Amino acid sequence: MKFSGDNLFVGHYTVKPLDGFKLPEDEETGKRFPECCEAHSDLQHRVQDWYEKLPNCCEQHRKLFETRGWDKHKAYPDLVHKILIQSIQTEHFIESQIDSEKWQQEIIDYIDHNNDSFGHPNLGAERYMNHVVHFISDSSCIQSKEKRATLLQEINERYYSTSEVGSQTDLNVLHSAYQKWISAFPFDLSVFQPLKEKFEKQLPIIKEVHHKNKYSGKTTVTFHTKESLVDALIAVTNKLLTEINTYSLKKSGQLNEPDRLRLEMIMEERKVQLSEGYASNARDEQTQYRKMVKQWLRDEIRFIGLITPIVQAATGSEKADDQTELSSMYDQIRKRFESMDKNKGWKYTFRSERDLHCICNLIASYFEDQPYDLPLKLIRLRKRTKTRTAIVLGEIHRDLSEKQFSTDEDFLTIVRCIKDFENSPDLAKALKR
Ligand SMILES: [Zn+2]
Ligand SMILES: [Zn+2]
Repeated sequence: MKFSGDNLFVGHYTVKPLDGFKLPEDEETGKRFPECCEAHSDLQHRVQDWYEKLPNCCEQHRKLFETRGWDKHKAYPDLVHKILIQSIQTEHFIESQIDSEKWQQEIIDYIDHNNDSFGHPNLGAERYMNHVVHFISDSSCIQSKEKRATLLQEINERYYSTSEVGSQTDLNVLHSAYQKWISAFPFDLSVFQPLKEKFEKQLPIIKEVHHKNKYSGKTTVTFHTKESLVDALIAVTNKLLTEINTYSLKKSGQLNEPDRLRLEMIMEERKVQLSEGYASNARDEQTQYRKMVKQWLRDEIRFIGLITPIVQAATGSEKADDQTELSSMYDQIRKRFESMDKNKGWKYTFRSERDLHCICNLIASYFEDQPYDLPLKLIRLRKRTKTRTAIVLGEIHRDLSEKQFSTDEDFLTIVRCIKDFENSPDLAKALKR
């Protein structure tokens, strides 16, 4: 969206003269403005001629009247009078204010107020302004060359400067510049979160408030360009970062959960790194790729190193309570065998770790409904451990399986992979002891 105002219409309003204003009069002939003198009757003729030609005075006006379907006599019946009267009132204003203390501000405010009074589109304002420029250039009432030059320069910058196009504020450009800032600033950190909504809701477009026109009450502002907005946002970033930080939080007693904040900050840092992406300007592409991956690995390792102690500290207590839940079925089964003997551990019954692993794996897979293959070679237990092993196997089933023991033929088949149980006549009963 751009402010073009193409379809906007703002009507005229009248501007009052300074107190004591009287229409000028020729002392000899007694003729009143605009017939008072040559200069003013010239002005009248010029304005009248222009109004006769309107809208065919120029292409711009021809188009304007065509698109709006205007009849000038209906839309602007008093335009000539308005231009003339405001021109002469402005002459009077300049004459009376040029030696005052705030002459520049006063005169410019008044001219600006007159200029605005032509509304939008500002038909006739150009005629008015041309005459004012003429008057300032020629009138003997302005004795100081510097004052004359100052006024002309300010009028030129305000009303004749073509840089208006360049400085036109495109809200889309500002909006996207602002959004980039919003997403780059770490508003997700809990310390900044309260500010997030406020900043998200606004679009700062006004760069500067200059001053309030005494006559129109209008406030003059300068809109941001993309560059000035970015400058302003950099300043805001600096302000927020320097005002809200761990040091100031600690000082004001608001640093309640330093570990959580630290974790948030580490996460945020990684997020920023990732959003910057990885690039390398190495010459050949293979080196580029390798360097990118290398940098990424370095960042990842650092990141993991930073978060690990915090995450461990946070989850440490939970983990202790929940040990069994977290370890796998395999580990749980293996633990049963390991605790068969205080000194020998699983070696009490198994002859090798491979045998132990084989049995644990088979049972775990079966309990978790995973596919498994029975071993071709049967496992032999150590001598005189058969009975105790049978009891442990029974307990494993009772504690870790949801299946009904007495009908669990598959489990018995797995147990029969142990040579010692291969031919046990009443295996189920042996395990249940
Ligand atoms: Zn005159
Ligand atoms: Zn024209």
